[in-house]
Amino acid sequence: MSKPQPLPPKQSTPTGVLQSVAAITGQRDRDLLAKTLLATLTELIHNSRITMYRVLGNDEGAEAVLTAEVCAQDGFVSPPSVTSIKIASRADFTWVWNHHKELLQPLDTRYFLSIYPIVGQHGVVGLLETVSEAHSEMDRHLITSFLRVYSNYLTLLDESETDTLTGLLNRRTFDNNIERIIADRSKSDENDDPPLTHHPARRMDHHDLPHWLAIIDIDHFKRINDEFGHLYGDEVLILLSRNMQRIFRQHDKLFRFGGEEFIVVLDRTDEENAKAVLSRFREAIENYDFPQIGKVTISIGFVQMDKADVPSVMIGRADQALYYAKEHGRNQVCFYEDLIVSGKLSVEHYSDDVQLF
Ligand code: GH3
Ligand code: MG
Ligand code: MG
Repeated sequence: MSKPQPLPPKQSTPTGVLQSVAAITGQRDRDLLAKTLLATLTELIHNSRITMYRVLGNDEGAEAVLTAEVCAQDGFVSPPSVTSIKIASRADFTWVWNHHKELLQPLDTRYFLSIYPIVGQHGVVGLLETVSEAHSEMDRHLITSFLRVYSNYLTLLDESETDTLTGLLNRRTFDNNIERIIADRSKSDENDDPPLTHHPARRMDHHDLPHWLAIIDIDHFKRINDEFGHLYGDEVLILLSRNMQRIFRQHDKLFRFGGEEFIVVLDRTDEENAKAVLSRFREAIENYDFPQIGKVTISIGFVQMDKADVPSVMIGRADQALYYAKEHGRNQVCFYEDLIVSGKLSVEHYSDDVQLF
């Protein structure tokens, strides 16, 4: 005889609710977190289909990007087909987005479509859509309470992963995630949206293209601190980070790695484009007018990310290229492989304990 299965807790009992909250707040991975929440909610709302979207803002307006989807009978629709919907293209999404309130409307004589906002510190960060029989008042309270726990917890996760001065991802996040970023991106690409690109040729063979790791270091930053003071130095770090967020694409990962050193992991692209993007960023900083301070320049060393290499090796190589840029006039972008091929650098071996330039 098979082992008796413990009865699943009824979610709406106090114990069941507490167990669900414990399960949700035990997750660090955002995808699993969303799935845990949805699994909890399907037990709560019988006979339902629940879809969660995260809301992303971009130049063309807010977009709802499908995060996870679950059906009470069939389980997770897995992996969810990654789709995104412009908020403005759906009147019901727009209403919830503007009013920060749930919207319930009949679909037919039996089913209702309900949309709940997931409200973060700076507005709506997600939407939850359910198709089910009518929700009781109690169900609605439970759903909105779970969504508040979820959003509070997301805020805490975000805060623990970002650098407080610049808002970029922090060093710890880099250390914890770099291997997963490489692995995740390589497996997720078949479901991934096409990269945000204006380069039509790149869409076709996107999956075969590599990632790129660039280290960015501000030139003569000590002088800025010495001449203008630390507060102005900090302001430069903030403005530089804003420029990074403006110039790099949504799928590129931006980290503050140390004091005035930054790392960008460029999403899949070809060598020509990686060089072009990094050079464009270098130029943008050179031409940016930093209030009071005027001109600031940066040097960049970068390397192609190869799944066979451990992160410390890739960082070591990008740092060698950065060092070369510093030694040869600063305010330039140097590509490690080019320097090796031209004999300007030789291959070095790295330990795991990398000290940056
Ligand atoms: P180089 O062109 O060779 O990179 O010259 P540099 O002066 O930038 O040299 P280095 O990278 O050694 O100096 C980094 C300086 O950055 C030293 C440190 O005082 C300053 N720094 C580090 N973190 C912070 C920070 O959070 N705020 C401010 N204002 N300064 C910082
Ligand atoms: Mg430095
Ligand atoms: Mg520096």
